[in-house]
Amino acid sequence: MSFPFEYISYCGAYFLKSTFRFLFILKYQTYMKRTYSIIFAFLIVTSSFAGNLPVQPIPDLLLQQITEYKAKEHIEFLASDAMRGRNTPSPELEKAAEYIADYFKKAGVEPINGTYFHNYNLFKVNLGEPNAFSIKTKDSTVAFKIKDDFIPFDVTGATTLVDKEIVFAGYGISAPEIGYDDYSGIDVKGKVVVVIRGGPKFDDTTSPFTWKKGGIRYMTHDVKAATAIKNGAIGMIVFNSPRSSNALRASGFPWPSLFPKMASDALPLKIKSNKESLLAHFPIIHCGERAAITLFGTVENLKNAQIAIDTLMKPASFLLQNVKVEDLTITTVEKEFTVRNVMGIVKGSEKPDEYVVIGSHYDHVGASQPNDPTKDSIYNGADDNASGTAGMLLMAESFAQTDPKPKRSIVFLAFSGEEKGLLGSQAFTDNPPLPLENCVSMLNMDMIGRAEQDSLCIGGNTRCKELADLNEVENNQIEKPFSLHYNIENFFFRSDQANFAKKKIPVLFYFTGEHKDYHKVTDEISKINFPDLVRITKLCARTAWKTASIDERLPYTPQKSDNMDIIH
Ligand SMILES: [Zn+2]
Repeated sequence: MSFPFEYISYCGAYFLKSTFRFLFILKYQTYMKRTYSIIFAFLIVTSSFAGNLPVQPIPDLLLQQITEYKAKEHIEFLASDAMRGRNTPSPELEKAAEYIADYFKKAGVEPINGTYFHNYNLFKVNLGEPNAFSIKTKDSTVAFKIKDDFIPFDVTGATTLVDKEIVFAGYGISAPEIGYDDYSGIDVKGKVVVVIRGGPKFDDTTSPFTWKKGGIRYMTHDVKAATAIKNGAIGMIVFNSPRSSNALRASGFPWPSLFPKMASDALPLKIKSNKESLLAHFPIIHCGERAAITLFGTVENLKNAQIAIDTLMKPASFLLQNVKVEDLTITTVEKEFTVRNVMGIVKGSEKPDEYVVIGSHYDHVGASQPNDPTKDSIYNGADDNASGTAGMLLMAESFAQTDPKPKRSIVFLAFSGEEKGLLGSQAFTDNPPLPLENCVSMLNMDMIGRAEQDSLCIGGNTRCKELADLNEVENNQIEKPFSLHYNIENFFFRSDQANFAKKKIPVLFYFTGEHKDYHKVTDEISKINFPDLVRITKLCARTAWKTASIDERLPYTPQKSDNMDIIH
């Protein structure tokens, strides 16, 4: 039991000072004065207790149970070749889910509403038939061939558009905090928009539309599609950047029906049936040179339109003259299936209805179809994210096995579908088995197995400074504090905490950074830094304990980027 400095750190200092002052006054007072002072002192004490009740100290046992040995056991199982990269969906993912639920049960973690599984449905989307694209010009109609001239993207909707006007909308970006909007001053309602991939000057380090500066998050197809729909557009034609590519080619998505070498099940997954999705009837096609020439006369013209934007960093959208979409037909077929998040709870001692979430995704990207069978084709995902899942399991066991319990409950969540677009955490926050308003914070561990030089990245601090400060205090309590870095806003929307932040829940994201084995077959257990994985897990456990024990609920500070248009 460490001396309760933390006791002091939180509320003790004030209390001790007043106690000494009280003893000093007492010695020198007359009886009446003494009576008043006693009453006054009593008020001070009660108020200090009322205001800042000391937080229960962290039981040593909680941290002692978090060991390298157990972490190794979990990663050896989850990241073994036999688990074939835990793809969503796959039989191996189901095996991993059973493993986690069994471990919860053995460790004494309780089920939620009688089950360890949070089931949700996903839709596998495949390209159907027919698919057609033709443009009407002043004097003729140009019909394009699928695969050679146009290919739908994975997020495409399915519909038929006939006789529609076309607007060139630059990069198709609305970035309020960057002060850039390709849709300002142009009416795209009921029209098809043409956009260029990327963002203004995205290959120039000074541009805000770079990875470093964060504007990159406006450049994905689903974000651009959501922005176009929000402005009333009914379809999207996408070209590669003519400034950075010699020839404009269509690649879109490698649909197995167009690319026979592709695994037949390597298909896009959606959390909503196409029928429900915002994108249901919004076709998005990637086009090549022939379409660019038909629409703009020459590729050079499209290039000049791009240069005009990049030069002034100002939008230059316009309605295309003398050309219309004659026919744009995209057909998709979808198959529905069920996958599972795994969940468990350790009930709190005083406020069991309120809870802190400890999260980690347990899925990864599966295995490829190697041309050479002797070649390694399994993406073991030891760091991504068997490491975080091991941390979550270690904490689940230690919280279940430790008494007393913190005031609030701790909910342990293993998400599937993360690699497919944060689908498991979206499903959980869309249909939570427990009231989401009772969730006081979410701590997410994704890739915590490759720490170097005692550094650890923390995300979410701008959304809840108090939680980050609390974590900082706990970091200073561990035997060898980490140097904490708060520079991962670009990764913030790439892991499951993002869906909780969208519900305005204070979150922290623990991450040891990208590395050369990221999403490679070489992300294997031999490269895991176990001593630091255990240190990070202990830090997260301490912060979880405190967040579950303090009286107050921590505030959430909304960020502009929280409202970013994302559709699933
Ligand atoms: Zn991950």
